Amino acid sequence: MLIDTFGRTIDYIRVSVTKQCNFRCQYCMPDTPMDFYEDENHIPLEAMATFLKIAIDEGIKKIRITGGEPLLRKDLSTLISSIHKYAPEVEIALTSNAFLLKKYALSLKQAGLERINISLDSLKPDRIIKISKKDALKSILEGIDEAQKVGLKIKLNMVPIKGINDDEIIEILEFARSKNITLRYIEYMENTHAKNGLKGLKEVEILDIVKRKYPLKLIEKENFGPAKIYVLQDNYVFGIIAPHNDDFCKTCNRIRITSEGTICPCLYYQESVDAKPAILSRSTKQMKDALLESVQNKPEKNLWNEEMKTDEISARAFYYTGG
Ligand code: SAM
Ligand code: SF4
Repeated sequence: MLIDTFGRTIDYIRVSVTKQCNFRCQYCMPDTPMDFYEDENHIPLEAMATFLKIAIDEGIKKIRITGGEPLLRKDLSTLISSIHKYAPEVEIALTSNAFLLKKYALSLKQAGLERINISLDSLKPDRIIKISKKDALKSILEGIDEAQKVGLKIKLNMVPIKGINDDEIIEILEFARSKNITLRYIEYMENTHAKNGLKGLKEVEILDIVKRKYPLKLIEKENFGPAKIYVLQDNYVFGIIAPHNDDFCKTCNRIRITSEGTICPCLYYQESVDAKPAILSRSTKQMKDALLESVQNKPEKNLWNEEMKTDEISARAFYYTGG
């Protein structure tokens, strides 16, 4: 079992399989050139699978594949099926912008993918273009429908930003509810790669907007997960991920590995372990040592807070760590 120095059991790993993306979201990588290609340093997915199997042997029970945009890796189904065959009890999930999902949903499901979280920041085609620099709404909606059709469990993720999409907080909630899909609002996390001047809505502001239309109550803090769960009177359940809150890190159960093999024990903390040489050497002992070192290095708390000064804002890119 992987237990950190603060007594937290680490049983969840997020795996970024690429830094590349077909979107340029304002809160993530707006200024990266569209032809950005820096993935020669990729860990081959077959080697990443070996590392993940060792992580499973050490106690990992859930794997989320992310990026950049993970569906840009054409051999993704092979990675999923290799892990699924090795440990069918391990939950494999994916986070995607869904642009390519219609094409891949069935093969991903057949490979063993159980869940998918899909980013949906607007239901207005022009606004999606403004947010992501891609004319993508139609493809995203088709991807959601296809994922539902093939039986993937779905959650939608929305990052509400002031003056950009905060007027759609209710609309997206109602859309998710109409499709019987759980919605999670994610507080915007400040980082130096995002567009200057973005202001995200905090949990209390999001709740105020929802409450004006729908009475609701908090039901629980998601067990060993980052979201607080709320329920409307008609029993529709949604979540809010609020890393700025004080208690956010207490039940953190996760570590991250980048597509280049760097293990990050916390999304907003510069410490990391370079596991690339260990993974490429295929040495079980070296990979296990790197994993244990990263868990031992896991900090107690992230560094997001309300009064962050410009020079304290995280320089870690979400498209690198996988969000
Ligand atoms: N490309 C995929 C997607 O967008 O779903 C997966 C990678 S993306 C980095 C993973 C998640 O991080 C998405 O839900 C996205 O909305 C979220 N994200 C990215 N930048 C963020 C930021 N600055 N603050 C909060 N969430 C962010
Ligand atoms: Fe791409 Fe996801 Fe970042 Fe948007 S949030 S630019 S879709 S990696």
